[in-house]
Amino acid sequence: MKCHDGMYIGGEWRPAASSDTIAVINPADEQVIGHVPAGTAEDIDAAVRAARAAFPAWAATPPAERAALIGAVRDALAARAGDIAATVTAELGAPPPLAAGVHTGLPIAIAGSYAELAATHPFEEKVGNSVVHAEPVGVVGAITPWNYPLHQIVAKVAPALAAGCTVVLKPAEDTPLTAQLFAEAVHAAGVPAGVFNLVTGLGPVAGQALAEHEDVDLVSFTGSTAVGRRIGAIAGGAVKRVALELGGKSANVILPGADLGKAVAVGIANVMSNSGQTCSAWTRMLVHTDQYDEAVRLAAEAVAKYVPGERVGPLVNARQQQRVRGYIEKGVEEGARLVAGGPEAPLETGYYVSPTVFADVTPQMTIAQEEIFGPVVSILRYEDEEDALAIANGTVYGLSGAVWGEPEAAVAFARRMDTGQVDINGGRFNPLAPFGGYKQSGVGRELGAHGLAEYLQTKSLQF
Ligand code: NAP
Ligand code: MG
Repeated sequence: MKCHDGMYIGGEWRPAASSDTIAVINPADEQVIGHVPAGTAEDIDAAVRAARAAFPAWAATPPAERAALIGAVRDALAARAGDIAATVTAELGAPPPLAAGVHTGLPIAIAGSYAELAATHPFEEKVGNSVVHAEPVGVVGAITPWNYPLHQIVAKVAPALAAGCTVVLKPAEDTPLTAQLFAEAVHAAGVPAGVFNLVTGLGPVAGQALAEHEDVDLVSFTGSTAVGRRIGAIAGGAVKRVALELGGKSANVILPGADLGKAVAVGIANVMSNSGQTCSAWTRMLVHTDQYDEAVRLAAEAVAKYVPGERVGPLVNARQQQRVRGYIEKGVEEGARLVAGGPEAPLETGYYVSPTVFADVTPQMTIAQEEIFGPVVSILRYEDEEDALAIANGTVYGLSGAVWGEPEAAVAFARRMDTGQVDINGGRFNPLAPFGGYKQSGVGRELGAHGLAEYLQTKSLQF
């Protein structure tokens, strides 16, 4: 795999401050595929200075010109689609069709959506005797996870650039090569020097230095709730803006009026995709007691199609594999019934976990409360709609969800869920719809016009 041995700062690849490196590992075969520099506070400081220096001119660039450059980034990503997909397969382990689709096609589409939004968004509004200007917040520190390596980057950088902000990105240590390809695309597109900067490195070193840097105006973080809490505290202490996109434990609620077969099959597919490493995955399936046994049977049947090493890739690293296997052991210990999978690794090499379905899961069990981030589905039983609602809302999270049933009943139920997104009867993902969490799933929204608003602040002029 192609690796840069420097940081992309101020429009060029510069030597890193330290000679320490991070080994990038292919989780499917456990082989080292490359090394990237491990950034320090010094690299972060250089990148923030470059972003600050570039900010006034970028903020003053007419939105239509910013839009054209974001469109050029989109095209540069599209021109590299093959390389991006191959890199996501190599460093994340995503099976090639998934790498080409969700991991490459989706972020290219989102970059395109921000080229359009930058050109059409009303950055100026008249309110009575005032004109309200939407101005960029400033220098953005973006910290991203490995689960959707390119999407997580584009979902922050594209709206930030559309708003007129400049950016320093610290990507996940497990997937830095996709981030380097993104930097190449930004460079090829002709985005002015310093508008986008990349520092690879470890979270507690480079990530923390970025969150703490006093010249960063907004920290946008996606990842675990534990780290998000710390980032929020740092931002609060410095009175800077913060956006947090954290974990989830979403419910797939199957009402009695639903197409049970479809609801179960789509629900299983939703969790197995990306080996369960999706913050919005519907990891709890809620089924009425009268349909429970049939749903469990259908789920066991559906999950058999997800063969590790074929349709299902490995987890990203050995630590995540161990973590998820530990949760499966915990489920068994607490009395849930395994109907598929289990804690044993299905393949000798690679960080694979068996696609696992648990029945007889009760709402208090650890596997029904904590984010597992692996291919594990828990099926819970409910007695009536009020019971289903209490279970659905009964976690600290609220990122996503699904409801299946008669359309009106499904919508009424969805409106009572404490969560940021709900798919009704298999409604398609909409890249323009705001994405983000209620409760401990986060603060702020990504995607579409709502995602753009995160990077803007208002100034009112009275006449
Ligand atoms: P994580 O540690 O929260 O990582 C997210 C990002 O934050 C990475 O770039 C990470 O760098 C960085 N980071 C870590 N510690 C930091 C610190 N003290 N200050 C600033 N930045 C820091 O997540 P993880 O360890 O990769 O995964 C753990 C769990 O998080 C998963 O099991 C899952 O439950 C959850 N998760 C959620 C999402 C989501 O989309 N909501 C995504 C990934 C993970 P490093 O890469 O060097 O750690
Ligand atoms: Mg980490």
